Amino acid sequence: MPSRISPARKRRLTPPRTLPVPVNFIIEELEPLHGPIEWNPRYNALDELIFTVLTQHTSDLNAERAFDELRRRIPTWGEVIEAETEAVAKAIQSGGLANQKSVRIQAILMEIVRRHGALELEFLKDLEVDEARNWLTDLPGVGPKTAAVVMAFALGMPAIPVDTHIHRVSGRLGLIREGTSADDAHIVLEKIVEPQDRFNLHVLLITHGRQICKARRTLCDKCPLGDRCPSYGKFA
Ligand code: SF4
Repeated sequence: MPSRISPARKRRLTPPRTLPVPVNFIIEELEPLHGPIEWNPRYNALDELIFTVLTQHTSDLNAERAFDELRRRIPTWGEVIEAETEAVAKAIQSGGLANQKSVRIQAILMEIVRRHGALELEFLKDLEVDEARNWLTDLPGVGPKTAAVVMAFALGMPAIPVDTHIHRVSGRLGLIREGTSADDAHIVLEKIVEPQDRFNLHVLLITHGRQICKARRTLCDKCPLGDRCPSYGKFA
């Protein structure tokens, strides 16, 4: 049975009719501040997926340590499937939640083999964005953000991963409506941002959120979007 969307959620999935701060303006103003932006894939798509699972509820640094240790102890993904779950958990313990993540990683790898017959994800590049996203989010424990990270960072596909910074800054700038969840923000932002601008906007908003539009004590007086931002000074 198709899932029903409540009227409130339907409204939140509809972008505001006029954006107080247009996307082009955001990019033009933030690029000199936080750019230049280059797309340099750090991992292949499957490695990126497993790395992103390891980043859940921890820092990138801890996730990197866990990822490197996993690769050192159990070098291939096929061997990770065959390994004792406890051995996988031990290898990734620096990334936190090792018991849950080890189970999830093995489940993801097994499901990829079951559905695709090989431990690689580069084939997703040949699919439409929505198809690739659906393929990834059908994997156990993979949500819209993880799928978008794999697509944007490893495959060069036009997806916008929405993390806590992007969710917060998008809300303050009025790109998404109040109450929109981070998962739904993926859908809304893709409706209002041209495919060729999505990676750049992702990097600019995340950097802006870390450096200027922080969770608390925003630096609005240093923000080039201040003249148009509906939240100017509200969180300073
Ligand atoms: S003006 Fe302030 S609230 Fe608005 S985006 Fe800039 S830092 Fe954030």
